[in-house]
Amino acid sequence: MPLEAINIIGAGQCGTLLSIMLARQGFEVDVFERNDDPRIKDAEAGRSINLALAARGINALVRTGLYNQIAPMLMPMRGRMVHQSDGKTEFLPYGQNDAEIIYSVTRSDLNQVLLNVADGIPNVRLHFRQQAIGYDAPDRTVHMRDLNDNSLYQVEALPLIAADGAGSIIRRSFDGSDTFGGIESLLRHGYKELEIPAAPDGSHQLRPDALHIWPRGGFMLIALPNPGGDFTLTLFLPNVGNPGFSSFTDAGSVQRFFEQHFADVAPLISNLTDDVLNRPLGLLGTVRCRHWHDRGNVLLIGDAAHAVVPFHGQGMNLAFEDCVVFDHIMRTEGGDWSYLFRRFEEQQLANANAIADMALENYIEMRDTVRDPKFAMRKTLAFEFERQLPDYFIPRYSMVMFHSDIPYLVAQQRGSVQKQLVEKLTEHVDSLDQIDMPAALSELRKRLSPISEVRVDRTL
Ligand SMILES: Cc1cc2nc3c(=O)[nH]c(=O)nc-3n(C[C@H](O)[C@H](O)[C@H](O)COP(=O)(O)OP(=O)(O)OC[C@H]3O[C@@H](n4cnc5c(N)ncnc54)[C@H](O)[C@@H]3O)c2cc1C
Repeated sequence: MPLEAINIIGAGQCGTLLSIMLARQGFEVDVFERNDDPRIKDAEAGRSINLALAARGINALVRTGLYNQIAPMLMPMRGRMVHQSDGKTEFLPYGQNDAEIIYSVTRSDLNQVLLNVADGIPNVRLHFRQQAIGYDAPDRTVHMRDLNDNSLYQVEALPLIAADGAGSIIRRSFDGSDTFGGIESLLRHGYKELEIPAAPDGSHQLRPDALHIWPRGGFMLIALPNPGGDFTLTLFLPNVGNPGFSSFTDAGSVQRFFEQHFADVAPLISNLTDDVLNRPLGLLGTVRCRHWHDRGNVLLIGDAAHAVVPFHGQGMNLAFEDCVVFDHIMRTEGGDWSYLFRRFEEQQLANANAIADMALENYIEMRDTVRDPKFAMRKTLAFEFERQLPDYFIPRYSMVMFHSDIPYLVAQQRGSVQKQLVEKLTEHVDSLDQIDMPAALSELRKRLSPISEVRVDRTL
């Protein structure tokens, strides 16, 4: 008996992982990708070089049995190393213990493992250099172009899963209709990537087990370690204005800016002026939709459904969580495609909106709030609450990054109650011993329900 077939547009992280999961459920999966096969020719130049991988992404990789292949590629990041303007540094741990860390992973290495695994499954077929150019809803077909010879053909929505990223052509084909109600909001800040090479002996030139941040109020520089001893830096800055990318007109303007704001790290950066002037300016934005599916024909997933700005390091983690949620619904609930797509939207849409908000807020925290002298005190108090009442209080950052069974929406809602409480308690004190701990813990119990009641179980 022929297996049921599914077409996926986009062999990025989401489309490829989903193809593996669906194939293992017995579906015939065809994946259409406009770029070259990155294992042969890297078409991803200009996209972020490394990514932060956290619990939700790890959970998806463990579930598909891929984690053991990825684990040797991971660089642990135990906390933020904050570099102040006066050159002082402060290390702020991300979590309570050694298990609560995040990892830097090279995007291309991760994608290659996913593609190799998908390629090894007989009922997955990967088609590269195949571009979707539009979706025709009445005919339930995608118009495709074969970039090898520019010939045109059509692919049926058998159904169709659109994993074609933030600028999804499938989503945009519905613009003007009420189907998805997609809104794309560009941030007025963009990014450029730079590099600190390894030292001559191959070692890292900055502490390797940290995510480094140079917060400067309205803008920031960050650095993530790579296994080869180098760091990838990302400069986030307004696109226009001064400071802003538009103010970099020549080598002198770049040098003056770095000497003024990033004097400690500037000498370590290779090809600084050339890279700032000539590398492509990356755009950042949020995509929100009211719906993610067109009846049982099309489902948006990953960035195509909900691109988020990268300041919480969650876009890929969320895309991987989407795959877990969809796989779980398909394995545990019967019903037609329309029902399954609706269930997916019901479970994930509010969560995607929650992390989109939290990612935008985190930009302000990373570039500005970390400079507040009370920031470290509030983090320490939050960790103390977690130690004392672990079933009532987990810092919001930890809920997002280390607890894949706490939905993003729950993290956002509890996080807001927790923030009010911590800010109120630290408002008029200079040190934590001035806080009435028993009273604080009792208020906390009154205002929050046990976390065990809101955890979700997606084990099969
Ligand atoms: C600067 C930056 C830093 C980031 N850092 C992090 C981080 O630290 N942690 C994290 O979790 N996330 C991070 N992200 C987000 C992460 O990169 C994305 O959320 C993730 O890659 C989404 O995966 P996806 O498969 O949904 O989309 P994509 O990876 O964009 O894949 C979409 C695929 O579809 C293909 N495609 C597009 N259009 C067509 C078409 N018309 N026809 C056929 N194929 C098409 C594309 O070529 C691509 O291969 C970051 C993003 C940026 C920009």
